[in-house]
Amino acid sequence: MPFECPQCQVKNSLQILTTLELGPAAGADETMIQLTECSHCEFQALAIYQESRGGALEGEAFSHQGYPLAKEQFQLLTDLFRVCPDGFKRMCGCQAHQELARHAALQDWVAFSQKNPFTMKLAPRSGHHAP
Ligand SMILES: [Zn+2]
Ligand SMILES: [Zn+2]
Repeated sequence: MPFECPQCQVKNSLQILTTLELGPAAGADETMIQLTECSHCEFQALAIYQESRGGALEGEAFSHQGYPLAKEQFQLLTDLFRVCPDGFKRMCGCQAHQELARHAALQDWVAFSQKNPFTMKLAPRSGHHAP
């Protein structure tokens, strides 16, 4: 599902290339780490999708933040994601899952991106937010 690119602002241009599911981390019931790239301007970012169900919150609460990546960082993460045999397997013990789970627990994405995070935006038409 494509998102709006924060750099060129073209709707539906920011594509999710790979997803790695982590499951529960840092208080969220669901955590997904995604690599995204704009098909228009080649902007690249790491996206973190987190969802919490129940608890004190009514219904479902989620956040979907993007962290702009430099070319080298994007390449580094692409290589790391490739280590994983199955990105949708939460209990996977591969190096990629372990390393990203460590960052997720600390909410530490600055290690990959020095730039300000942005909110992942879907084109208004769809009205439903899901990764
Ligand atoms: Zn763009
Ligand atoms: Zn894995």
